[in-house]
Amino acid sequence: MESCIFCRIAGGAIPTAFVHEDGDAVAFRDIQPQAPVHLLVVPRRHVASLREADDEALLGRLLAAARQAAAKAGLEQYRVVINTGADAGQAVFHLHLHVLGGRRMAWPPG
Ligand code: AMP
Repeated sequence: MESCIFCRIAGGAIPTAFVHEDGDAVAFRDIQPQAPVHLLVVPRRHVASLREADDEALLGRLLAAARQAAAKAGLEQYRVVINTGADAGQAVFHLHLHVLGGRRMAWPPG
């Protein structure tokens, strides 16, 4: 999708250093990190949000990509977050997994 920032990053239109990439997904550093390590794992295929994600096998591979990206970034302990919908904090409507680590996390989240 031409207008989607994460499609443009995943497709190479916006040069970005990938922490991890595979056939399904790319992982790169968040531009406004909320933790010492803050990665985004983004499917190459445009899916607006988890609500629209109908490919369960892809969802499994995205979790595996998150695990690999975390390992490549040196994280052993981390949190994976998927904001779904504006009220949940989703601002970019291309499915993405946040991988946050490098500090102790609070619970409940805000
Ligand atoms: P969300 O609020 O769950 O939709 O998360 C979107 C995330 O994308 C935010 O944490 C932003 O800081 C991040 N973001 C937006 N544009 C970029 C970009 N060009 N490169 C890296 N991260 C971005």
